[in-house]
Amino acid sequence: MSQLDDILTFNKDFVAKEAYVPYEASGHPAKKLTIVTCMDCRLIELMPKALNIRNGDAIVIKCAGGMIEDAYGSTMKSILVSLYELGSEAVYVIGHTDCGMHGLKAEKMIADIKKRGAADHAFEDARKQGVKPEEWLNGFQSVDEQVSRSVAVVKNHPLLPEGTPVYGLVIDPKTGALRPVND
Ligand SMILES: [Zn+2]
Repeated sequence: MSQLDDILTFNKDFVAKEAYVPYEASGHPAKKLTIVTCMDCRLIELMPKALNIRNGDAIVIKCAGGMIEDAYGSTMKSILVSLYELGSEAVYVIGHTDCGMHGLKAEKMIADIKKRGAADHAFEDARKQGVKPEEWLNGFQSVDEQVSRSVAVVKNHPLLPEGTPVYGLVIDPKTGALRPVND
């Protein structure tokens, strides 16, 4: 059986048993907060548990490194939707130690992409769209700096509702320990 078959089989049973009942919630975050964090798989359950967040409490936006680089990219758009349309009132940018984006160099990733068969014209295509792969694919060198930069993108956004608190934090993906980042 494929992984997809496994998932679909499990899912049928999950729904039939009404295992979803403990997770029922409205689509508006009860704790009125938005979290932007990394997609790291260690944070799936640990982060909400460590922050005392349950299903329905928060809007959680995930991307590699929790990096908010583009003021008009999809992460920033999601933040604005959460604040204007879903009732969120505060933004928490949470980076983490031991992140896969820490020290990731675009040159390495470009080499990895080429190894998997991407042709040079694929990168040319990105350039035609105004994207420089040698910058776009970079990670970061310091998690604190990364969080501060992302917080600044949100805080300085011209469309941010006035007075919205924006906090920067770093979480330990093993213990769940949180510490604020000074900006
Ligand atoms: Zn990460």
